[in-house]
Amino acid sequence: MNAVNAGGPSLPQERKLVTEIPGPRSRALHERRIAAVASGVGSTLPIYVAAAGGGVLVDVDGNSLIDLASGIAVTSVGNSAPQVVSRVTQQVAAFTHTCFMVAPYDGYVEVCEELTRLTPGDHPKKAALFNSGAEAVENAVKIARVRTGRDAVVVVDHAYHGRTNLTMAMTAKNMPYKEGFGPFAGEVYRAPMSYPFRDGLSGTDAAARTIDVIDKQVGAGNVACIVIEPVLGEGGFIVPAPGYLAELADYARANGIVFVADEIQSGMCRTGAWFASEHEGVVPDLVTVAKGVAGGLPLAAVVGSAEIMDAVHVGGLGGTYGGNPVACAAALGAIATMRELDLNKRAREIEDLLTGRLRELAADHPWIGDVRGRGAMIALEVVEPGGTVPDAARAGRLSAGCHQAGVLTLTCGTYGNVLRFLPPLVASDELLHEAMDVLAEVAATV
Ligand SMILES: *Cc1c(COP(=O)(O)O)cnc(C)c1O
Repeated sequence: MNAVNAGGPSLPQERKLVTEIPGPRSRALHERRIAAVASGVGSTLPIYVAAAGGGVLVDVDGNSLIDLASGIAVTSVGNSAPQVVSRVTQQVAAFTHTCFMVAPYDGYVEVCEELTRLTPGDHPKKAALFNSGAEAVENAVKIARVRTGRDAVVVVDHAYHGRTNLTMAMTAKNMPYKEGFGPFAGEVYRAPMSYPFRDGLSGTDAAARTIDVIDKQVGAGNVACIVIEPVLGEGGFIVPAPGYLAELADYARANGIVFVADEIQSGMCRTGAWFASEHEGVVPDLVTVAKGVAGGLPLAAVVGSAEIMDAVHVGGLGGTYGGNPVACAAALGAIATMRELDLNKRAREIEDLLTGRLRELAADHPWIGDVRGRGAMIALEVVEPGGTVPDAARAGRLSAGCHQAGVLTLTCGTYGNVLRFLPPLVASDELLHEAMDVLAEVAATV
């Protein structure tokens, strides 16, 4: 391996800028990209990556940036985590693909065993593996429909569930996810979500509002599943008011509705628990898993009640690549790393560090309307001072300023006014403090 390109935790953990951002080599690559890559595929920050590990990304110009994105909550164990690299390397040399539906292998079984243990609840559970989060959500809906013999799928405002046809219908935000891509799948209904900063409702009142819409506009007896993110991701890191999720889950149970927690972003240690449902004492019927589960390789799962999972006829679930052996090896390495480094505890430490720093910042800047999130899934919402009117332009300047200073941040939210922080869970306190110092400097100028 070229030493310059060796990634993983041995990379120097530092913010170091040696060119402007993006530098000349990144700009040259970007020219090639513009000629060859479809323009519908965007990039938050067009620095071209040469190596990554711990809490940093190193680009082709030699700049080292602090990573507060983790490739959208994926590299929670860090990039090229040693156990992921060693297991993937062994697996890739042994065999790369047989298709689990043709000739199975133990890695798939072991990942399912792990996920059935790690997801909430002690009841008998089973799992099935797929390639992407959207594919997992699609399959959760398929399973719920077979199980219930019903069609309707209920989702909430601000939800994000993916970009395939069914999951576009389930996703709330039009631009950029849905614009022009219809017609969308039918039998998808949207209900209001608990959004404490904007609605001020208690969990009980917000749940009553959601349930009223389901009862009046859909009819509980028609609903196959309610699909909800326990902490909304792309929708703005919205943490529902306490009790909201539990009341919704109780309503689902009482009405024979499959309750699906989409934990694709919030799961696998990200919020300081294996799954964010645990913070609310909720045991979902089905859980969708992807992003953080496999240290950067594409893997997704639906996990839940054995009875519900087994409702589907043999051959009804699957796919050519679902549970690919290399991705399974990566997941086993990632899960082993999460246990060994106690990354749930680490995520809670990161929560304390980030929320502490962001609350100090909010005290200085009245345009920071809210600081929220769980674990290492923390955000600030940018508004016009004193109210809740979204200010996406200022959030954009804040994020762009961080990029120029060598800190990779992301925005999100229905109104595009939320700055979110998703560091790898292995990023050091020193790096996170430095990133918050940079943010504070930029905040003073926007
Ligand atoms: C990212 C995400 C998805 C879609 O996952 P892909 O792997 O991009 O298909 C679905 N649900 C949630 C909550 C997500 O964050």
